[in-house]
Amino acid sequence: MIIKVLVEININKQEKTFDYNVPLDMQKYIKIGIRVKVPFGKQTLEGFVLEINENSDYKVKDIIKVVDFEPILNKELLSLGKVIAKENVVNLINVYQAMLPKAYKASNKTSINIKEEKYITLVKEEEVKGKNQIKIINDLKENKMILKSNYPDSSVKSLLEKNIIKIVSKEVYRLDNSCDLKPINKLNEEQARCFDEINNSKNDVCLLNGVTGSGKTEIYINLINQTINEGKEAIMLVPEISLTTQIIERFKRNFGDKIAILHSSLSDGERFDEYRKILKGEVKIVVGARSAIFAPFNNIGLIVIDEEHSSTYKQDHNPRYNAIDVAIHRIKYHNAKLVLGSATPSIESFARAKTGHYTLVKLDKRANNAKLPLVTIIDMQKEIKKGNKTFSNDLLLAIEDRLNKKEQTMLLINKRGYSSYLMCEDCGYVYKCPNCDITLTYHKTSEMNRCHYCGYAENKMDICPSCGSESIKSFGLGTEKVEEEIKNRFKGARVLRMDIDTTSRKGAHSKIINDFYDNKADILIGTQMIAKGLDFPNVTLVGVINADTILNLPDFRSNEKTYQLISQVSGRAGRDKKAGKVIIQTYNADNEAIVKAKNHDYESFYNEEIKVRKKLNYPPYFFLANLIVSGKDFKTTIKEAEKLGNYLRIKYNSFMMVLGPSVASLSKINNIYYFSVIIKYRNKEKVVKALNEVKVLTENNRQIKLDIDVNPISL
Ligand code: ADP
Ligand code: ZN
Ligand code: ZN
Repeated sequence: MIIKVLVEININKQEKTFDYNVPLDMQKYIKIGIRVKVPFGKQTLEGFVLEINENSDYKVKDIIKVVDFEPILNKELLSLGKVIAKENVVNLINVYQAMLPKAYKASNKTSINIKEEKYITLVKEEEVKGKNQIKIINDLKENKMILKSNYPDSSVKSLLEKNIIKIVSKEVYRLDNSCDLKPINKLNEEQARCFDEINNSKNDVCLLNGVTGSGKTEIYINLINQTINEGKEAIMLVPEISLTTQIIERFKRNFGDKIAILHSSLSDGERFDEYRKILKGEVKIVVGARSAIFAPFNNIGLIVIDEEHSSTYKQDHNPRYNAIDVAIHRIKYHNAKLVLGSATPSIESFARAKTGHYTLVKLDKRANNAKLPLVTIIDMQKEIKKGNKTFSNDLLLAIEDRLNKKEQTMLLINKRGYSSYLMCEDCGYVYKCPNCDITLTYHKTSEMNRCHYCGYAENKMDICPSCGSESIKSFGLGTEKVEEEIKNRFKGARVLRMDIDTTSRKGAHSKIINDFYDNKADILIGTQMIAKGLDFPNVTLVGVINADTILNLPDFRSNEKTYQLISQVSGRAGRDKKAGKVIIQTYNADNEAIVKAKNHDYESFYNEEIKVRKKLNYPPYFFLANLIVSGKDFKTTIKEAEKLGNYLRIKYNSFMMVLGPSVASLSKINNIYYFSVIIKYRNKEKVVKALNEVKVLTENNRQIKLDIDVNPISL
């Protein structure tokens, strides 16, 4: 027996497998989709069995060992991997690895095993003496198995010696999702209409465009319940950890241990266990972040992607892929439905709904008759003339009012740290990262200047290194500074801060959310981590300190992102009985995205934005791909990038527009230079084929690296 094995090494040729012979005694274990250990040169490597044949054209070696008894990748996932690898111009082995939890990776050093616990069972009934021994026997009359660690070792030992009991091991899961179940909420009239429209939709993809707080999650829960009642499985994707805490609680309350949870804040062991629950068919629902889209189900009826516009669905490192694309492949295979939900869909998704490729389902009202909050825009150019740098009068008055009424406030500032940067007032010197071309951010708590790209940190200096002046001032705003100013102005107010710096410890994140939910704080200050999905009934005021941080990014999506952020964060206010208010401070008070977000008018924002996209040949009118050439040596890198640009222009001119490499695309991060060649195109098939050809061209060039980002989230 000969098998074709895809080994776990990075060879650029995408689907290159190697033939191995299977010794007679191992043949009965061989199945497609299991892993085996094989000799490879001087090393031993792990790989996936992709084919089983009679013989080979090569002189082959024997495999060393069979790793799995059951396939860890099923037929669907094996062929899905090939499609994803082709479409995204990435290596197949990397896609297979991305499908599995870390614990399954051969290169993973920490070995994670099934966790077992020892239980006592009864062998024969016999009279015993001693209080503890009698208790054990009595407990065994009520329960077949009891946990050994709950009883004194000596009593267990003497019962064992008398052969009255025996010890058995049983797999236990590190995460227990069972809890007191609550009945599923009955949908209101509007929600029920959406539910029916989704069920009756002719398209297999539905875009549920519902304002924040309209009950999209209630609709998901009802759809998922229907799916599992039909004996099928459901995948529910949520964008990121800040959201998962609350949504997972809701799912647990309704489905208990029928769900498995897969997201980044689980330990490797917990992830491994949750994955095993799926493999063993013990759960019907998976709730998780991006990679949960690869859950090894065999009979999917429904996939839901909540906050579908979120950039976290695109993995922006190797292997790049977009979970929405993966979802579409999976529902086609399973004949299932995909529901994309958002208050602010991506322009591409909404365009697909408008053109009838997706079914558009709209939910315009908040549930329980809660009103959408009143949004006020504050022109900071005017405020600054009055001497108000961080907070406008309106915002301060509103915060004070909420403190008096014992209601809560959320303040969004999209930059962590103390200030954006330190600058010498005399000569204009700014502190930059020596490894990256990026200004350092000042962190007051640690008195450090930090680079948010590479992690470089240096102590704050009191004297300008350029002119010797001592007047070094901080400019721009960060979460730390807002926190400090709020604490100074409102003595006694209880303030929480949520950003990467305060949430790095495991559990820190949910603690902040739970404390705020339990009214243990009056004001929550945070980066965009606090913007999405959270549901705090007592929040009646949301302030956006500086709405311009995103608007000023040189990115074709900056309007879209600004609209999304403002409308998401507004959605946090007044979700319950009390009315909500949102105050947006900006230096661009007449910006289209900001004004449209104020009026909660997504469609009219879309109608404006789509015109811009058309004029500039951006998605959804054209597809984009970003070919990033990087290297340590500046000259070699630019030379190779130019060579690549010219090659594309000459060879594929008929079906792609090639832009660059331009100086604008140059960046330096961690002492590596990056240049981009951007292509725009309509014909996906031709371009994917071309890019897969181009990918191998630089394979043997050790001085540069070519990274291809198909359908980039940002440029
Ligand atoms: P969305 O996902 O659209 O932001 P949610 O599903 O979170 O909206 O609903 C907002 C709030 O209203 C939640 O607290 C939710 O439990 C409640 N809610 C919405 N619909 C119903 C319903 N039909 N029955 C009971 N509560 C509901
Ligand atoms: Zn100076
Ligand atoms: Zn840096």
